[in-house]
Amino acid sequence: MTKNLRDLDFKVPAPRDIAYPAPIRLYVDAQDVLRGILQIRQVIPVRSGGPLTLLFPEWLPGYHAPRASIALFAGLRIEAGEKELPWRRHPVQVHAFKVEVPADAEQIVVSFHFLTPTDPSQGRVVVGKEILTIQWNSVLLYPAGYYARQIEFHAFLTVPAGWQHSCAIAAVDRQDDTIRFEPVSLDVLVDSPVFAGRYAARVPLDDQEKVHLSIFADNAELIDISEKKIAPHRAVVEQAGKLFGPAPFDRFEMLLGLSSELGRIGVEHHRSFEAVTVPDYFTDWEGCFSLRETVPHEFIHAWNGKFRRGADSWTPSFDTPIRNSLMWVYEGQTQYWDRVLCARSGLWTADQTLQAIAVTAATHQVRAGSRWRPISDTTRDPIIAARAPLPWPSWQRSEDYYSEGSLVWLDIDTRIRMLSGDTRSLDDFARSFFAADQQGPAQTLTYTLDDVIAALTDLAPFDWGGFLRERIDGKHTGAPLEGIERAGYQLVFRNDPGEFWTNTEKLAGNLNLMFSLGLIVDHDGKVEEVLWEGPAFEAAITAGTEILEAGERPFSVEALRAAVQEAGRSNGTVRLRVTSGTCEREVEVHCPGGLRYPHLTPLEGARPRLLEILSPRV
Ligand SMILES: [Zn+2]
Repeated sequence: MTKNLRDLDFKVPAPRDIAYPAPIRLYVDAQDVLRGILQIRQVIPVRSGGPLTLLFPEWLPGYHAPRASIALFAGLRIEAGEKELPWRRHPVQVHAFKVEVPADAEQIVVSFHFLTPTDPSQGRVVVGKEILTIQWNSVLLYPAGYYARQIEFHAFLTVPAGWQHSCAIAAVDRQDDTIRFEPVSLDVLVDSPVFAGRYAARVPLDDQEKVHLSIFADNAELIDISEKKIAPHRAVVEQAGKLFGPAPFDRFEMLLGLSSELGRIGVEHHRSFEAVTVPDYFTDWEGCFSLRETVPHEFIHAWNGKFRRGADSWTPSFDTPIRNSLMWVYEGQTQYWDRVLCARSGLWTADQTLQAIAVTAATHQVRAGSRWRPISDTTRDPIIAARAPLPWPSWQRSEDYYSEGSLVWLDIDTRIRMLSGDTRSLDDFARSFFAADQQGPAQTLTYTLDDVIAALTDLAPFDWGGFLRERIDGKHTGAPLEGIERAGYQLVFRNDPGEFWTNTEKLAGNLNLMFSLGLIVDHDGKVEEVLWEGPAFEAAITAGTEILEAGERPFSVEALRAAVQEAGRSNGTVRLRVTSGTCEREVEVHCPGGLRYPHLTPLEGARPRLLEILSPRV
């Protein structure tokens, strides 16, 4: 048999619900922050000789996709005693490595590097000079053939001298700068990232001190935990408890990184979330307000997503593909509630929340993608696009189960209210569906579409199955706006952007003319996105096109904004000089409405249900 054909008998054993014979010791050295190199050593007990397959975790729950950074895995060496063991990688399942364990070996030692990106072009930067984040799935291999809950890990992490750390797994002790964590199963370990850094603060957010905001930052000045800024975070915990009922955790760490070095992230876990946001989250409190949605969003996932999860999204092992058919509940309803909790907690004013909902509604009102692609099909997008930049997002539509899903849940909430004479609401659904009867570390209770329909029917008899088939599985033109109207509001466009729009534009560093010219452009004139079949689309402008002149003036944000405003007052066209590749040309873009921004205004005489929804629970 030739060497290549030998791969044909490399089969990865399927996971079984049986215990791995003994705990695996895992040592991660994260002290080399200047190079961002993590050094890993694992001691894996083996019961007998023969073939052993080791896996790098591939399908990651919070990502809903095979998003492991296997390309950053390097330097693999496997030893038994003094002897180095040859390994080979599966030719297709490239996360799998096979070794032949000698008959007399009691354990093998595996070492490798995880080479964290040193530039954003290589991936999300996770190690900074004064702050780092560890996702355990990036720093371990596990034996194939076992459910993740059946493999016990004893993890040790060495951090730079004097750094603090935070993690949902308790530390048993710390010797010098090596932290020893309490033994946990593989699924809990992977679900419990660590933040570490020189500058940190940990603030309790509830009376029982179960929930903490653990802040890590590039420098000490960024950590401003004055009462004014902490109080709404405390209110998030209180309002979430009133909404969802008993929590499905015994402790919860909100891991919040404030950094210009690290890449942004927001990922949910059972007993923590990891969020890295702008450095000025606290120090430019008003100037970053639109970003505050992340905290309630990821916290809500403890109930919706981690404790309760669509049945096909739960998998026993990280080598089992994840399916996402109910992500419009997992993410769609979470986005609905995160905005409600932003308002109920005081992270946002009610008016800021109305503006955020208006932007979502307007976005889907003009998005053409819903004409060919139902929301249910977008639940495949974590696997298809994996959040890569897209040429035509409004036609491809990517992960619209989040935002369009949130509009469907507003429709459902207001429908329950209407059907029940305003005696019931989606708050009752949240309580009945997500309240936990357990507070363990990592239990998941799965549900099916029929369970969702049954819970809704309990609250208000209605053909929910037919409704959801039409909204989730059907194609349509425009946004589902009935919820907004039933909530006493209507979507309108005005020429003032409002503070939510202005804030998101400022934080994104762009000029967003989606509802006028049909494009978004950065401060250098480079087009970031063009609305499918919008005015810029008709002029054959694409993402990547550079705008050289706007209305006879050299490009600037002010010049382009003024040109669009002028178009609304005069002949309805904007003259642009643009370049794309080798082609420079002048175009006239039809833009008769001038500047247009979405808002919600009260419907006269209608019950303002949206204000009732956004009011804090007492
Ligand atoms: Zn989410």
